[in-house]
Amino acid sequence: MAAPHVIVIGAGSTGAATAHDLALRGLRVTVLERGEIANCTTGRNHCLLHSGGRYCVKDQESAIECIDENLILRRIMPDAMELNGGLFVALNEADLAFREKFIEGCEQCHIPYREVPVKRALEMEPFLNPGLLAAVQVPDGVFEPFRFCLAFLATARHNGAVVRTYTEVTELARAGQFITGVKVLDHRTGKTQEIGADLVVNATGPWAGRIAEMGGVEVPVAPTAGVMVTVDQRLCNLVINRMDKPADGDIVVPQRLTSIIGTTSWAILDPDQIEIPKAHIEKMIQKGRELIPAIQRRVTRGVGAAARPLIRKANTDEREVSRTFECFDHQRDGVDGFVTISGGKTTTARAMAEKAADVVCAKLGQRAECATRTTPLLSYRLFYN
Ligand SMILES: Cc1cc2nc3c(=O)[nH]c(=O)nc-3n(C[C@H](O)[C@H](O)[C@H](O)COP(=O)(O)OP(=O)(O)OC[C@H]3O[C@@H](n4cnc5c(N)ncnc54)[C@H](O)[C@@H]3O)c2cc1C
Repeated sequence: MAAPHVIVIGAGSTGAATAHDLALRGLRVTVLERGEIANCTTGRNHCLLHSGGRYCVKDQESAIECIDENLILRRIMPDAMELNGGLFVALNEADLAFREKFIEGCEQCHIPYREVPVKRALEMEPFLNPGLLAAVQVPDGVFEPFRFCLAFLATARHNGAVVRTYTEVTELARAGQFITGVKVLDHRTGKTQEIGADLVVNATGPWAGRIAEMGGVEVPVAPTAGVMVTVDQRLCNLVINRMDKPADGDIVVPQRLTSIIGTTSWAILDPDQIEIPKAHIEKMIQKGRELIPAIQRRVTRGVGAAARPLIRKANTDEREVSRTFECFDHQRDGVDGFVTISGGKTTTARAMAEKAADVVCAKLGQRAECATRTTPLLSYRLFYN
């Protein structure tokens, strides 16, 4: 008997990792993506491979997910990562007062850390604010988002998955309470088509609410935008974070020969229409130069924004919403054959996929266990072979 067929909508980090997990467990998988791979939030973030340091005081569940996944991704996907490390730096008395909580948070979340003397931190990063008062190093890194997704998808394809880009899901097909497949528009040919499936996974990040609506259900995914400013020149080799709880303009990530300053956080209605407030750009430069004064003199090479798919809890401020993730089996909403996986980070995509695939396999009566923690991914280069 043929294995059940699962459609995964979205080829960002969540959809790519989910396709890999399902294909490895022996399911027939088709990935449908309306644009290019890593088309949206995944292709437009800072690309920080989180150590969990940013969340270890205020959002420990997410911090633990990040460090666990950081260590797994280093093993399974070495060629999409720059394992440069990160420094959390204290610039004033308030930051210094946070240091104890930060170190306590690292210990509670089992994040390896080491205190770096100020003199040594300045030798490592000569462009850092010379007035810094303390520095702590953690295993942050930087990933290349396109290769990140390609590696998952190359491996999924090797295990039989089909990946269709520029193929937009326009409707969910339904028979009674069952989702039976999707209707798609192929943007290259202009043709429409219905594709049948035993189950459909909604992995569309900030668009998850829109796809859920097509199935007549709701998910509490709140698209929450953030602005990033890229300046000319690589001004640091490690990721530089402010030693404080997450706030606007508190991180500088080296990307190739540029430095990306991030970010802000505000709720939006439509992730396809993000208007970048000018004040956010100015704030990035102003806050970024507190960390690295040379930012002031560098040319701005780009300004971008993307929307996080945050799982909204009632009456919570955007900065307070946990960066953790959730999987929704819509059977509980009266619609079967339909699962949404959302929230999280690119760093936690593999764990998100594991959770989604566990739910999918239980629903479809597939017994296979998750093997993605220990299965090395094929090189991203093989996606094109
Ligand atoms: C400003 C900012 C900075 C961030 N920085 C980091 C960071 O440094 N490190 C980190 O780990 N995480 C970071 N994140 C979080 C991370 O980017 C997201 O959690 C992650 O990219 C979400 O991936 P996703 O696959 O769920 O969503 P997406 O990457 O948005 O993928 C969803 C996909 O679904 C597709 N889609 C939508 N509708 C349809 C349709 N109808 N038919 C077919 N396809 C469809 C879209 O085209 C898209 O490609 C950041 C987020 C933001 C906003």
